[in-house]
Amino acid sequence: MKDLVPSPPPVVRNDVAAIQALYQKHVVPSYGRFDLVFRHGSGSHLFDVTGKRYLDLGGGIAVCSLGHAHPAITETLIEQSRKLVHVSNLYYTEPQGRLAQQIVRHVAPGKVFFSNSGGEANEGLFKLARKFGHEEGRFEILTAANSFHGRTLAGLAATGQEKFRKGFEPTTPGFRHIPFNDLQAARDAISPATVAILIEGVQGEGGITPATPEYLLGLRALCDEKKLLLLMDGVQCGHFRTGRFQSFQRILEGAPGGERFLPDGVSMAKSLGGGFPIGAFWVRAEVHGVKLCDLLGPGTHATTFGGTPLACAVALKVLDVIERERLADNARQLGEFLKAELQRLVDAYPQVLKTVRGLGFMVGLELQEKEKIPALAAGEKAASLQFVNRLHEAGLLTIPSGTQVVRLLPALNLTRPDAEEGIAILERTVRSLA
Ligand SMILES: *Cc1c(COP(=O)(O)O)cnc(C)c1O
Repeated sequence: MKDLVPSPPPVVRNDVAAIQALYQKHVVPSYGRFDLVFRHGSGSHLFDVTGKRYLDLGGGIAVCSLGHAHPAITETLIEQSRKLVHVSNLYYTEPQGRLAQQIVRHVAPGKVFFSNSGGEANEGLFKLARKFGHEEGRFEILTAANSFHGRTLAGLAATGQEKFRKGFEPTTPGFRHIPFNDLQAARDAISPATVAILIEGVQGEGGITPATPEYLLGLRALCDEKKLLLLMDGVQCGHFRTGRFQSFQRILEGAPGGERFLPDGVSMAKSLGGGFPIGAFWVRAEVHGVKLCDLLGPGTHATTFGGTPLACAVALKVLDVIERERLADNARQLGEFLKAELQRLVDAYPQVLKTVRGLGFMVGLELQEKEKIPALAAGEKAASLQFVNRLHEAGLLTIPSGTQVVRLLPALNLTRPDAEEGIAILERTVRSLA
């Protein structure tokens, strides 16, 4: 058969520079991108357009929960899209109802709203909090220093890092920042206008910092005392990445009273669709005598694409595979392995590495200051970026966080040999800098 659709010109097919030129000419330059152009992937490996193979321990920033090109996702996309992709939220579809049921099963009694991203899920939590406090004139939400809650205008206001807000003032009112893991600071910050406290269970963009069990339990007691909502951003640390569905479930394992802990709202996105865009927030059934999960009544909140049958079918399949293949246990055990191996490197190369921290498949490796690493000192870029670039040369993808931290956020189905390959590459790279 002769070509009905002309194939793209070979220059676009193969040439890194030609593809980058398309971006330079036509794509808004809002991202600082690395010089890598990817074509396809398989499991925890990616291949660039020159055919070079990379081990992906960044997981598309904690998104590709089943790795790349997982057949279960591919088949679900094909099967569901043959039946129904979208009908709008004027109607019911089975996948949305079933996915909500599964999320509730993994958190606690309550209800779920579906969005398309993490930032949008957080916006829903902000609206929930404002509605909750509206009659009393309360609207202020306390969030943590170094937090990250998204790039929408309210998300930027919630985010406890000045650099993201710069140039986009005036900042959306109604947010104030408090030091993370500091209970007294939270208590001192509460004003008559305060209605909620929002934190990440494990700060991701802030450099992988878990909340302590005492902080979580203390915030819960404080919110009960002051009639505030306790909201948790589980966009990055959720979806079994820490070894449990939500990070607070993992952090509070074994803590006295931990099994009774429950936030009032939890946002999710990233890993939920395994790469297909979907976000959600869960709302607790009842708190402070209010039926919180029914507070956002008909007409109060909406989004066109939220919870399409296609997105929900994929997310249901991702959950199914995670449970069937016990990937939460894999994240917990291989995460421990990664952390222990990185600790070994920290001990062996203190000139280059400072600390390692994290939970499960959320691991942060902190580098020494650039000036202390002669091989990086002359470079203009931050230590984290230079290190990540060297790892790229060696065939490993990781995610920088600030100037000093490199994050590992791998697929939940990472294998032991892949984890070992990653450590070997990291060790070679660190040794070359020592
Ligand atoms: C990524 C992220 C967001 C924003 O999610 P988007 O899908 O990019 O809007 C919000 N909170 C946390 C903790 C995140 O890591």
